[in-house]
Parts: sequence; structure tokens; C-alpha cells
Amino acid sequence: MLEGKADVVVVGGGNAAFCAALAAQEAGAKVMVLERAPVEESGGNTRFTSGSMRFAFDGFEDLMPIMPDLSEHERATLDFGAYTADDFFDDMFRATNYRTDPALCERLVTQSLETMQWLARRGVRFLPKLSQSYRDSEKIRFTGGVVVEASGGGDGLVTRQTELLIAGGGEVHYNAKVLSLLFDGVRVNGVKVRVDGELRDIHAKSVVLACGGFEANSEWRARYLGPGWDLVKVRGTRFNSGDGLRMALEIGASPFGNWTGCHSVGWDANAPEFGDLEVGALFQKHSYPIGIMINANGRRFVDEGADLRQFTYAKYGRVVMEQPGQFAWQVFDSKTIKLLRPEYRIRKVTKVSAGSIGELAAKLEGVDAAGFLDEVKAYNCAVMNNAPFHPGIRDGRRTEGLAIPKSNWANTIDEPPFEAYQVGCGITFTFGGLRINPETGCVLDTDMAPLHGLYAAGEMVGGLFYFNYPGGTGLMSGAVFGRLAGTSAARGEA
Ligand SMILES: Cc1cc2nc3c(=O)[nH]c(=O)nc-3n(C[C@H](O)[C@H](O)[C@H](O)COP(=O)(O)OP(=O)(O)OC[C@H]3O[C@@H](n4cnc5c(N)ncnc54)[C@H](O)[C@@H]3O)c2cc1C
Repeated sequence: MLEGKADVVVVGGGNAAFCAALAAQEAGAKVMVLERAPVEESGGNTRFTSGSMRFAFDGFEDLMPIMPDLSEHERATLDFGAYTADDFFDDMFRATNYRTDPALCERLVTQSLETMQWLARRGVRFLPKLSQSYRDSEKIRFTGGVVVEASGGGDGLVTRQTELLIAGGGEVHYNAKVLSLLFDGVRVNGVKVRVDGELRDIHAKSVVLACGGFEANSEWRARYLGPGWDLVKVRGTRFNSGDGLRMALEIGASPFGNWTGCHSVGWDANAPEFGDLEVGALFQKHSYPIGIMINANGRRFVDEGADLRQFTYAKYGRVVMEQPGQFAWQVFDSKTIKLLRPEYRIRKVTKVSAGSIGELAAKLEGVDAAGFLDEVKAYNCAVMNNAPFHPGIRDGRRTEGLAIPKSNWANTIDEPPFEAYQVGCGITFTFGGLRINPETGCVLDTDMAPLHGLYAAGEMVGGLFYFNYPGGTGLMSGAVFGRLAGTSAARGEA
């Protein structure tokens, strides 16, 4: 039975919520987690992830506390390199067109390693992220700044966090939809929640909102992101409909950040409306850097090889959404088919194969075949042999003379068999959120004064991401700001 009181109530059941809950518990608070979803669909977007996390580290020494059980063989063969705080800052500033809030970004970057080590100390297990590596004659080397993932992916991460919280005496309630905040005009004193069909007031010293953005709300998407966004597919949970944002804005919280922006990717054109936990992230189609993408006119529309996938995938969903009919086909030939990521080999995939480029053109549904053949011809002529093809690094193998260049991994599309995969836009999460005090995680009101008793974390924090996003930063942000919010909530720091 749900008791009417806790020291800290945490709203949400994903990574940010559990990091907040674990930190609050560590600071001595009696913690209650309220998760809207039923247990079988719980865990938010976190559960859909592969559990990849981006954090700054100076070398292997820093990773040892995060992956203490690496074997001797792994230590000898894996070269993690370094991803310094400066690298992380550079990637955040570059990806966001220098708009990321400096104070939030500073906390994210400088606390990232410590927070990973904290999670590992608490009992979360991490593994090397081998899908982000390549092998040369000596070693397996990692690229793109993401070198670890949670054991068992996002499902493993949130399951472990839940176990740890419960083992420490914390409560987790499912089917518990928080409807509003208890606010007396000065401070937040708890929440109104509907649990299993019954309305309850839960009183608390502090409330941490970690209940996601508004990506699963088609009306809000159309309202804030703009025309066409109502039609896109949701990659993750159907439960992130902006409830926490609405509740906070209703009591005067300050909105902050890129409310017209979001993370979105190329996602199977026939994927369902919301994420499917059986398929997880595998509707994504992330091998486009080694192929070409064409639209309904048969034309390329973006530099597929502008950068490593980690730095382009989150903004290319929008570019696909903006094409006629909101779709694209990714095209590969025998030179690259063998290099396609595992998500291209799932059963639920929109794919055509052909023995000649003409046959392929006829099979690309919705595409002007003549335009496509013309485009491939022009593209093939523009491919330079200026550098060897190397999919693991920015190889500089490019096209020349095209209005839309391909800057890396340019190979002609001319060797049968050919394969093409149809993608639409899949939204991951929204960038707009609440303004928090970067030192405490306390939500600020529109006068920039603290809303006492109210904290926010994860996707709900505005001001970090604008336009684009470096892969693996969502979970890291949830962990850093979740831990901060939980600690401050337990101590009553505004
Ligand atoms: C397919 C996919 C793959 C991804 N891969 C990665 C990756 O590898 N690495 C990475 O860093 N990021 C990844 N992301 C992004 C990442 O999932 C998010 O940035 C992160 O999980 C957000 O964590 P969160 O705790 O803020 O939100 P969530 O994990 O979404 O949790 C929000 C929770 O709030 C609950 N909730 C909503 N409304 C209410 C309410 N009214 N009352 C109570 N509870 C409520 C929801 O049920 C949910 O449990 C991926 C996302 C998707 C969809």
C-alpha cells in the first residue's frame, strides 16, 4: 500500500530518476519512486537504449574502477585511448553550435567520470563498447568518445538501479501517474498521484521531476517542434508526454533551452507509432555514413559522411523528416553491405535488394527512378580515390564537384548486389526543458529564483542540447543531474 509520505519523491522510472533516488537515499532520505508505466513497460527511454555513456577520461587508469573485471587479455588487446574533458567540451560546443549553457555543460563534463565511478561503486556493471571500435594490426581501438555501455544495455542498467534502490529500503510504485505538484505558493510539498485508479496526495520535503520530455505527445510536438512533427515515430516510451514540464510550468517554472529542437534519427519507415521493447533501438539505421541517402526525387540531400555517426545521427532524423513524403532510402552495394550494422539484419525491416542498379531503381517505392539513376551516375563520377576507405575513422575519402558533397567514406555504388533500406524520422527526445540551478538541480522560476522543494533531471533539464547532440550524452546527463538533484533534494539545498 502506498504511504502518504516520503522525504524525497522522485517522479519517473528511468536512469535520471534512479540516479536521483539512489543519491537521495545515500544522503539519508526515505525515497519513493513513482513510475507512470506498468512494470512491464517501465524504465522510460532508458530501457530502450544500448546503455552507451559518454564521459571524459584521461586513460585506462580512469576506466579501471568502472570496469574492474576486465580480463588480462582484454587489458592487453583493447586500446581505449583517452577522451579528455577538453574533447568532451569541444564535442558539446561543436554539436550545439556553441549554444550549450556553459554552467550546465561544465557540470556535465567535469562530473562525468566521477559519476560513472560512483555508479560502478554502487554496483552498476559496465562493459567495453565494442560496437564503437575497430581492429588494426595491433589492437582494438575505440572511436567517437563512447567506450563503455551498461551491462545488459538500458534494460540491465535500470533493472540494476531498481534492485539497488529497493535493497537500500527505497520504494518503487508502478502504474503511479503523477498529475500535479502540491504547491503552497512558496514551496513544493509533494505530488498528487493516481495509483492503480486511486487518487492520493503524497507529502514530501522535496520532489525530483525526472519524467522525460514531450516526445510521445503528438500535439505538443506539432505545437513546439513545428509542422510535420506530429507524424513522426517515437523511438522509445509512450509515457513521456510532457507531464512533468506541464506541472512545473503551471507553478511558474522557467522554461529553458531549445524548445523547437529534438534528437531524431533515421528510423525504419514502417516502425510502429511508439517504441517496441522487443526490438529496442534496432529500428534505427545508422550505417548511412558508408552509403548514400536519397529522397523521393531520387536525389541525395545531405552529406552522409560529414562526421562520425555519433555526431550526425541525432540531427539527420530532422533532415529526413523535411524531405518530400518524410522518407529516404539508404543505398549500399556489395562493397559496404558486409559492413552494415546488426540493426540491418532484423526481421522487421523495410528493405529491397537487386542485382542491378536499374532493377533497384524500379523497386524503390515512392522514388523517381530516372532521377535516382541520374544521381547515382553523378555521384559515382565524383568519388575520389584520394584516401583509402577506413570506416573506423574519418578517412577523408570524399567526392569532388557535387553540390552536396560526401566528406568521408565515399565509395562508388556500382557493384551488385545492391540493397536499400527505407527510413523515416524517429524522435528520441526533446531538447526544451526547465531551467535549473546548475549547482543544485533546483528548478528556477521565471524570476530566476529557486522553486523551493522542486528539482529536475534527465530529459527535463533544458539548456544542454541545441540542434544536435553527441551520442551517449543523454544517459550521462541523466546520471550527473539525477545524482545532483537527489543529493540536493535530500539536503534541502536550493
Ligand atoms: C531507442 C533509443 C536509444 C537510445 N540510446 C541511447 C544511448 O545508448 N545512450 C544515451 O546516452 N542515450 C540514449 N538514448 C537517449 C536516452 O534514452 C535518454 O536521454 C535517457 O534515457 C533519458 O533518461 P530520463 O530518465 O530523463 O528519461 P526516461 O528514461 O525516459 O524516464 C522517464 C520516466 O518518466 C515516467 N513518467 C512520465 N510521465 C510520468 C508521470 N506523469 N508520472 C510518473 N512517471 C512518469 C516514464 O514512464 C519514464 O519511466 C536513447 C533513446 C532511445 C529512445
